[in-house]
Amino acid sequence: MPEKGWYSLTVRLSTARMIRGLARDKGLTVDELLNELISMSPSKKWLTCSLCGVKVRATNMPKHMVKMHPK
Ligand SMILES: [Zn+2]
Repeated sequence: MPEKGWYSLTVRLSTARMIRGLARDKGLTVDELLNELISMSPSKKWLTCSLCGVKVRATNMPKHMVKMHPK
């Protein structure tokens, strides 16, 4: 895909420039940067429980709170 046209369908030019700038800062291609961002989605994020300090997946946090800290 030509460098100039990759954003034109779905992304505003200003957003595209920002993404390309971010990618350059990290030494990644735009494709690699987007993949990195996608892999950082909340479902794969780990949170630390503020009550017991255990690390829990973000998606499992509601379950953890009900199970371990019922009140
Ligand atoms: Zn906890």
